[in-house]
Amino acid sequence: MQKRKIKTIRTQVLRLLMTTISFLIFFSCLAFIYSSSVFVKSMNLEQLDRILNQLYHVAITDTKAQAISEANEIRDILKLYSDDMRSDSTPQKVYNSIVSTQSDRVVWLLDKDKNVLAGSDAPLLSPLLIENILSHTSEAWIDGTLELGIYAFHGLAITHSSHRNIAYIITAERITNKNFVQRINDSFGIDASIFYKDLRIVTTVKDGQNDAVYTQLDEKIYKKLKSTKEDVIGQSIVVGTPYLAAYRYFGNSDDAIVGIVAVGKSMSSYLQFIINLCIGVIVSGIILLIVTSRLSYTWMNKNIVIPIKNTRLGLVYIAKGGKDYHKYFSTAVKFDEFKQLNTAIEELIGDVELSKAKIEKIAYYDELSRLPNRFYLYNRWSHREKHDLNASYLIYIDIDNLRMVNDLLGHKIGDKLIIGIGSALQNIIKKLKSMELYHFGGGQYVIFCDSCEDENKIEEFVRNLIASFDEPFYFDSNTVNITITVGIASCNYAECIIENLVQQAEIAMHQTKKEHKGNYSFYTSQMVERLKAQSDFEDDLKKALDNDEFFVVYQPKLNLITKECTNFEALIRWNSPTRGIVSPLEFIQVAEDIGLIIPIGQWVLEQACEFVKKVQQNVQQSITVSVNVSSLQILKEDFVKTVLSTLISFGLRPHSIELEITESVLIEYLSTSVERLRQLSALGVDIAIDDFGKGYSSLAYLKRLPITMLKIDKLFIDDISEKKNSLVDHIIDIGHHMGLKVIAEGVETQQQVDFLVAAKCDYIQGYYYSHPLKEEDAINFLTSRRIN
Ligand code: C2E
Ligand code: CA
Ligand code: CA
Repeated sequence: MQKRKIKTIRTQVLRLLMTTISFLIFFSCLAFIYSSSVFVKSMNLEQLDRILNQLYHVAITDTKAQAISEANEIRDILKLYSDDMRSDSTPQKVYNSIVSTQSDRVVWLLDKDKNVLAGSDAPLLSPLLIENILSHTSEAWIDGTLELGIYAFHGLAITHSSHRNIAYIITAERITNKNFVQRINDSFGIDASIFYKDLRIVTTVKDGQNDAVYTQLDEKIYKKLKSTKEDVIGQSIVVGTPYLAAYRYFGNSDDAIVGIVAVGKSMSSYLQFIINLCIGVIVSGIILLIVTSRLSYTWMNKNIVIPIKNTRLGLVYIAKGGKDYHKYFSTAVKFDEFKQLNTAIEELIGDVELSKAKIEKIAYYDELSRLPNRFYLYNRWSHREKHDLNASYLIYIDIDNLRMVNDLLGHKIGDKLIIGIGSALQNIIKKLKSMELYHFGGGQYVIFCDSCEDENKIEEFVRNLIASFDEPFYFDSNTVNITITVGIASCNYAECIIENLVQQAEIAMHQTKKEHKGNYSFYTSQMVERLKAQSDFEDDLKKALDNDEFFVVYQPKLNLITKECTNFEALIRWNSPTRGIVSPLEFIQVAEDIGLIIPIGQWVLEQACEFVKKVQQNVQQSITVSVNVSSLQILKEDFVKTVLSTLISFGLRPHSIELEITESVLIEYLSTSVERLRQLSALGVDIAIDDFGKGYSSLAYLKRLPITMLKIDKLFIDDISEKKNSLVDHIIDIGHHMGLKVIAEGVETQQQVDFLVAAKCDYIQGYYYSHPLKEEDAINFLTSRRIN
């Protein structure tokens, strides 16, 4: 597999930088090479200067023949610098063969008086040479192009200060005298004619003119020179083009040419070299800077700015809820950073979408059962399509005694039960298209029928629903009998407000629960009032304990044979300031429903203990007080501990207390109840089964309970008066057979007493002997009986 090229911004920037630096180095090198070549050349030219000095010396000869032979020598020396040089060539040719470009060299013609007779174009006169020349010559001519002229002029100017020479400048091309002065002025920024006050422009000749013109010109120059000679102070130099004329002119005369001097421009200064180099570097640097800036700008715009802009636009688009965001996060971007960024953003969006889905799941579904919840229903309702429909029904279901399951079997089983019931309900409505199931949390479910035809069908459905819970639920090793209570509310579709519908069904459910668990009812407007009344009742009851509104009465239990009273049953009363004396039949169930039975039961137990103590002190008799215990109390984990610690705190023996328990709820949670009651029984607390025979009774479970007393329900005792064949004698027989004592409660008549005596009942309790008595009366009752 081919390794992918790393394309990060950093590497790319580095690359760009490296390229720029490379270019810079390259151009610098070029500048360096150029400068040094010039430098080297100028080095050579310095050498040449030296040669020329030597040459000059040689050139000062007296005879033409000597001059010519020396000129030949010069040529030989000059040969050092050019193989092409021909001894018989004209100075121009010599000149050309020495130098590669015309502007680099100058050729001089000298006479025997060391006068320079003529020279080639003189771009830069070596100051050294000029010094040299001027120290030997009386006059010289300079000629050249504008630039050459300037240089030449410049070169002369250098020497001018020390020698006070006059330079005659003859321009050879293109410009007029005026312009030339002007150019000099412009170039130097000063009035050249003032500064160089000795400067005289002699004449101007056109470039490329033929020899005749040159000859004419030369003559003219010569004449001019001759004519002005008197005025010339010091020496003059003839430089430049007129060498040819001069050559001819002088070459044929007696004055004759005595030497040819080739001069290169002098660039001996290191400084110049450095300046050249620096200029080269700076110029190429600036060019590179401009080019790279431009390139970088385009490059950055394309590869960095635009992707960032797109990313920002994409995020704004997403923030506005846009779905088609992929186009903003193209993977076609150049850099890895952006690729990674885009991938990360895409991932992030994915995560956000997932989280959104999760949040929706959490918001709209019950965590435990995974069924849609209350908000789902409300949401769905708000988005429903409006069309003419039948009435809507809302069936509010609540699991009865869920709290007990949780307390007793633990929340895990409780949760399993909730889930199990959820799926059971789902199974039931599965085939019913118009019905939807919701889980409102805890043990509360709602079945919603959006368009149901008639109430009868709903009622039948609910009845079947309740009946379906007859079967117990099995969890692990637990069997749980469950009942559900149902409230139903309906509304006409057009006027339906879902929140109200839910509230009404809930009220109906609560109302039913209060009156008859495991049942159902339709919501009626009166329910609200009833519920209000019940809630007021509950509020009053909650305050009753703190306000000391409860008191306990004690009903004697008598030994049927000896008629002795060693036992009382403690029965609670509520003396409400607004309601008067309220029977426990009215409030015990409510207290159980709202969990108040726990503190109330404890309070009764403490009252009973206190009563035992009082009897012991006042009557010197040890008695047992029977206390009614709600199954909710038994199912509380610390039940055994609470009973014992109460006994201990009053300094009583366990036998002082008997617990009366009712059978119904205990059967369901038998093992827990049996275990706890056994612990108490083992310590000496007596346990009686209350209301025996009422409702569901099982001898099998009775056997497992550590009871000592069987209390026959009043219903059976009531029967005694009406029917002869009462079940009471059989119950007494069974009790005895199981080794239990038997007590009959609610005994009101002599007839009943007689029957019970005959049936060998052990104890008796009822209005016949005594109503429940207030504490003092109970003590009096005891005292009076003892006296009798
Ligand atoms: P229970 O335990 O079956 O109590 C016997 C009920 O029958 C008492 O009613 C008593 O006053 C009444 N009674 C006794 N002899 C006769 C009689 O000859 N004829 C008639 N008609 N009734 C008689 P009460 O005191 O109204 O108690 C009603 C129920 O309230 C009790 O039934 C018991 O289940 C519950 N209860 C009373 N006190 C407490 C308590 O402290 N804790 C708990 N958990 N329940 C209590
Ligand atoms: Ca009782
Ligand atoms: Ca009873």
